[in-house]
Amino acid sequence: MTAPYQDLVSQLRTAFPAPVSDRLHDAYFVFSFLRALDKVDDLKSAAPMLGRPVELDYDAARHARVPDDPGTVEAVSDDLVRYLSGMFIWGHPRAQINVVPSPTIPSIIGGLLPSIYNPNLVSEESSRQVLLAEVEALAMTGAMMGYDAEVADGVFTFGGTGTLLYGAKIGLEKAVPGVRRHGLRTPAVIVCSERAHYACFTIANWLGLGEENVVMIPATDDNQMQVGLLAPCLRDIVASGRRIACIVATMGTTDAFGLDDLAAIVRVRDEAVREHGLDYVPHVHADAVIGWAWSVFNDYDFEANPLGFRHRTLRALAGTSRRIRHLALADSIGVDFHKTGFTPYISSAVLLKDKRDFGHLTRAEEDTPYIFQSGTRHPGKYTLETTRAGSGPLAALANLRLFGTRGLQALLGHLVTMAEELREQLEGNAATTVMNGDNFGPVTLFRVYPDGVDTFSAPDQERRDPALRQSLLAHNEYNRRIFEIIQADALQGKGVVISLTDCYRTSDYGEPINALKSYILSPFSDEQHVHAVLESIWKARREVEWP
Ligand SMILES: *Cc1c(COP(=O)(O)O)cnc(C)c1O
Repeated sequence: MTAPYQDLVSQLRTAFPAPVSDRLHDAYFVFSFLRALDKVDDLKSAAPMLGRPVELDYDAARHARVPDDPGTVEAVSDDLVRYLSGMFIWGHPRAQINVVPSPTIPSIIGGLLPSIYNPNLVSEESSRQVLLAEVEALAMTGAMMGYDAEVADGVFTFGGTGTLLYGAKIGLEKAVPGVRRHGLRTPAVIVCSERAHYACFTIANWLGLGEENVVMIPATDDNQMQVGLLAPCLRDIVASGRRIACIVATMGTTDAFGLDDLAAIVRVRDEAVREHGLDYVPHVHADAVIGWAWSVFNDYDFEANPLGFRHRTLRALAGTSRRIRHLALADSIGVDFHKTGFTPYISSAVLLKDKRDFGHLTRAEEDTPYIFQSGTRHPGKYTLETTRAGSGPLAALANLRLFGTRGLQALLGHLVTMAEELREQLEGNAATTVMNGDNFGPVTLFRVYPDGVDTFSAPDQERRDPALRQSLLAHNEYNRRIFEIIQADALQGKGVVISLTDCYRTSDYGEPINALKSYILSPFSDEQHVHAVLESIWKARREVEWP
C-alpha cells in the first residue's frame, strides 16, 4: 500500500525533466513543448496578431485561486497558450509599434537552456561556464563599441532601467564618497537632456536623489541635448552646492532616435572639473540601449559601401555612426540586446570602461580586492540582484554569434532602408509631415493633416507661434482620431499596427505635440509593408470625422 502522498509525488515526477538520461521521458518533454508550439500555431493567421482581440477581464482574474488538485502537463500547457491570444506579433512586418523586436531562434534557445538547468550568475560555483558566456558577451560587445577589453567589464541586469541605475549609482558614489554607508546628506543631481528616457526619474527616485534633482537640458530640433547649455548648467549645479551624480548621454532616444553629442559632453565634463576644481570626475553614462547596435558600423567603409546600401540609407547610417563611434568615451554604457539585438526579454548589460568602478559597489571591505577572490569571479559581490539568470547572456551571445558584424550591419541597414522608404513617401505627400527627419534610425514620427493645411509651413508655425495654439491642439486631436481608426482596423487584423506618442516634443509655448509612430524592426519588412502604412493612413483620412 502506498500512502496517498506517494501517488501524488510519482504523478508529479513526470512533470519534471528527468535528471538522468531517459530517452522516453526526454521525448515526452520535447513533445510537450512541440504540442504547445503547435497550439500557438493554431492562433496564427495573416494578421499581425495571435488569436483574436480579447477584452481584459481583471475582475475574473482577481477571482483566480490555486486549485486543490494537481493538473497535468498537457492541461497546464494548453491553458498557458491561451494567454497568448490577442498578443501582437512583433516580428510581423505589419506590426510597427515600438522598439520591440522578435527574437531569433538561437536567442530563444539561449533563453530556454538556462530555464532548464537554472545557472545562477551570482557566482562562479553556481553558473560555471554560463558565467564565461556572460564574460564573452560583454567582451564582444565592449570591443565592438571600442572599450579596452583589458580594463573594461560589466554585468547583465534587469533591463535598460537597471543599466542606468548602475551608471548613476557608481557615479553617485564617486560624487559623494561613502554615501553607501552614511546615506545621502548632500544633494546630488542627474543631468540629462529633456528627451532622455523617463527611467532617469525612476532611478532618481529609487536612489533617493529625488525626482526634482533630475536636471533636464533642453533639446534641439533633432532631439539631442543642446550641449552649449551643459557648461552653464554644471556651473549652476556646482555653485548651488549640489554634486553631479551622473551625466546621462542618450544615444538613441526612444521615440525619435535622437543622438546626444557624447564627445562634446565628455569635453564639457572635463573642462568643468578643471574650471571648478572638482575633487571628483562626474560620471558620464551613455544610455545606448537603443543605439549600441549601430557600433557595428564603426569600421564600415562608407565610401566603398561593400554591402551595397542605397545612397539614402548610407547617409542615414553614416549620420548615426558619427555619434555612435564615440561610445567608448563614456564611463559606462547601457545596452539592451532585447531592443536592437533581437533577443527575448530580458537581456540588458551595463558595461564599465574601468572595471575598478565596481569597487564602488562591492560588498567586501574597501581594501579587499573586489574580484578574483581566490582566482574566481563573483559578480554577486557587487550586483544589485542576488540571483541572476543565465538567459540574458546566452541569448545575447547567441545573436552576436549568429549575426556577426556583417549580419547585423545588413539587418540594421535593411530596417533603416525601409524607414527611409517610408519617409520618402511621407515627405512626398502634401497631407503628411515627418517630424524627426533629421534622426536616422528605424523609427519615423509623422503627423497627418486634414485637407487645406499647408504642410510646408504649418507644422513649424504651430510649434513656434502661441497664436496657433488652437490649431496645434486641433491637429493633435486629428492625429489621435487617425490613430484610433488605424488601431481599430489593426485589432481586426487589417492594415498595419503603428503607435501614437502623446508628446514627441512640446511646442515653444509648452503644449504637447503628438505624432504617429512607425517603428520598423521586423526582418520580414519589405516595400509592400511600407506601402501598407500609407494605405492605412489614406483610408483613415477618408473615414475620419472632421471637423
Ligand atoms: C527602453 C529604454 C530604457 C528602458 O529600458 P528597459 O529595457 O525597458 O528597462 C531606457 N532608456 C532608453 C533610451 C530606452 O529606449
